[in-house]
Amino acid sequence: MNHFEVIVVGAGAAGLMAATVAAERGKQVLLLEKNRRAGTKILMSGGTRCNITHATDRKGIIAAYRMQERKQGDFLHSALAALSPDDLLAFFHAEGVATKTEPGGKVFPVSNQASDVLEALLERLYRSGAKLALGEALSDLRVADTGGFELGTASRTLCCDKLVLTTGGKSYPGSGTTGDGYAWLKKLGHKIVPPRPALTPVTTNLEWVRELKGITIPDVSLTLADSPVRAANPNSGGGSKNLPVRKSDRVDERRGSFLFTHFGLSGPAPLDISRSISGHAKPAALSLSCDFLPNQSTDEFQKQCRTALSSNGKKSIMASMQNMLPQFPKRLLESLLAASDVAGDLRSAEVSKSQLQAISVAFKSNAIPVSGTRGFKKAEVTAGGLSLVEVDSSTMQSRMVPNLFIAGELLDLDGPIGGYNFQAAFSTAWLAGMSV
Ligand SMILES: Cc1cc2nc3c(=O)[nH]c(=O)nc-3n(C[C@H](O)[C@H](O)[C@H](O)COP(=O)(O)OP(=O)(O)OC[C@H]3O[C@@H](n4cnc5c(N)ncnc54)[C@H](O)[C@@H]3O)c2cc1C
Repeated sequence: MNHFEVIVVGAGAAGLMAATVAAERGKQVLLLEKNRRAGTKILMSGGTRCNITHATDRKGIIAAYRMQERKQGDFLHSALAALSPDDLLAFFHAEGVATKTEPGGKVFPVSNQASDVLEALLERLYRSGAKLALGEALSDLRVADTGGFELGTASRTLCCDKLVLTTGGKSYPGSGTTGDGYAWLKKLGHKIVPPRPALTPVTTNLEWVRELKGITIPDVSLTLADSPVRAANPNSGGGSKNLPVRKSDRVDERRGSFLFTHFGLSGPAPLDISRSISGHAKPAALSLSCDFLPNQSTDEFQKQCRTALSSNGKKSIMASMQNMLPQFPKRLLESLLAASDVAGDLRSAEVSKSQLQAISVAFKSNAIPVSGTRGFKKAEVTAGGLSLVEVDSSTMQSRMVPNLFIAGELLDLDGPIGGYNFQAAFSTAWLAGMSV
């Protein structure tokens, strides 16, 4: 029998949820998945621990999406009213997945096993009576004369009254998400906001940055500026001349943990800011101004330096800085001094006013020229997708094609790091499942 009331295409977070909810409402549901297993990205997520959601209420999720783009937060009101972060946690708790909140607000399963999250979703799907077809990619789609849909896979033709597309975006294409949904939606007359990588590492050619690979700093404030960094000073070990960013040059600002890598920068703050780099017409014209001590003003930092240098006059500046900032790895201190053109073995008492000024610029507004991002291959999400104005946010139904519903990352939605993306995928899917 190749007719179903509802067919859901793509068994990721959104597809598993939408199919379950529709089937629990008594619909006869088929869930199609191109991979041989469902929920590949759930298993990869959060370093295989799955950051399910964020410890906040629906207003907190909306505020985080509004920070990305106002329209994104506004779009999510009904979906989050249908399934809030608390509702989502109650869903998993009822399936036996205990959760914990980590400092910063990320919510994970207590077991630290993403597989527990996926198993819970699959258990609930099986109980709902929805059928799951694995290793069966949707390859063709058209609107039938009945107002329903005809779907083609390599082995059969299927038809349904209502169709839910949850095929995700284009990020990590190796996991099955190759942007298939965009082509079908375009064919059906929809507008696709050009997809671009988000939550992806940032690249730079600056040698000293790459040399610091492996070093993490828990709190850095980043300002993305639409202004090239002044030419690197040949005497500064590849460092660059830095100036505080003018307000008019500011493209984006983020704060959080920061990791140096062999290609540039990763960790939450660089990942969050990457959507603004991939969305810029000339990413290589951008620079990232890094404040490595965001809890201190420049004046406070300089005052602390003066005290540290004068009370350790005979010691090298490197030793004084290590005393003053014991939390900073030695290699980072060395690089920041080099970027200030100050020799690490200079006696503290001999540091001039202009050298102190250069040091404070290196610590408080160190401009790193951006060369680009690591792209879709390493992107946790896709920014862009089905234009939100073409979807009724109270049902997730297309405004262009009746009986067509869309949920998850295929929509023009991309949240910051911290569990927001799964929350949006589950909430939009819940609402679609309730509406079909
Ligand atoms: C490495 C990594 C870590 C992440 N960690 C987190 C995290 O901890 N917390 C968080 O909130 N978010 C995280 N994300 C983002 C999160 O995984 C996504 O936002 C979420 O999976 C989107 O769900 P979705 O169901 O819309 O799409 P997906 O999960 O991408 O699912 C889409 C499904 O559709 C299938 N499909 C595609 N084309 C077809 C076709 N033609 N026919 C049939 N099936 C098809 C795909 O195979 C896939 O199974 C992470 C992403 C990555 C890549």
